[in-house]
Amino acid sequence: NSFEQFKLNRQLLNAIEEAGYTEPTPIQEQAIPVALAGQDILGIAQTGTGKTAAYTLPLLMRIKYAQGQHPRALILAPTRELAMQISEAITQLGKYTDIRTVVLYGGVGPKTQIEALRKGVDIIVATPGRFMDLYFQEEIVVKHLNVMVLDEADKMMDMGFMPQIRKLLEIIPRKRQNMLFSATFSGKVENLSHEFLEFPTRIEV
Ligand code: AMP
Repeated sequence: NSFEQFKLNRQLLNAIEEAGYTEPTPIQEQAIPVALAGQDILGIAQTGTGKTAAYTLPLLMRIKYAQGQHPRALILAPTRELAMQISEAITQLGKYTDIRTVVLYGGVGPKTQIEALRKGVDIIVATPGRFMDLYFQEEIVVKHLNVMVLDEADKMMDMGFMPQIRKLLEIIPRKRQNMLFSATFSGKVENLSHEFLEFPTRIEV
């Protein structure tokens, strides 16, 4: 198993093996060491390249143990479908860890999501609008967020989520790791990357 080349723990390596991943994809090969080192990433990659595991595995490794009530990582996705897929991938790869994930999206009542948040959470996967709604309702404390991922950033820009993302960047701690993934590198994504990332490693597959 050439995932052994990375500094991942046994819990993660066992889950990777059970997921049937025998070797890392090119984006995983390049992104995992950089992300494990805590550096920012600009990843230009389509769906199907294995980008989700490329940021999820380092995230699970860096968060390590469930501790406290408040989230330490936030992954934003443009749609409910993608948010659910990401959260399923985290559940699968994190099955031997005690890391708690909550997925938040609009179009449904917030009650179940609020109940899940109140139990304590390590990673939030969310669509931007619902995340900000629940933040303004004081259901989310952001002061411990130290890893943030924007997935399918180009789609988020196309869907008009820039104002929510700007607002979010104002409220979360400045010292954090950022990763941005996008299928394309448009002008809008380039602007976002300048606002969001600090000395990123650019990875294109
Ligand atoms: P993604 O690009 O993250 O949406 O992943 C596309 C699909 O590839 C998902 O079904 C993953 O479970 C799968 N996948 C991710 N990494 C690997 C890997 N290293 N080997 C085999 N399949 C993988």
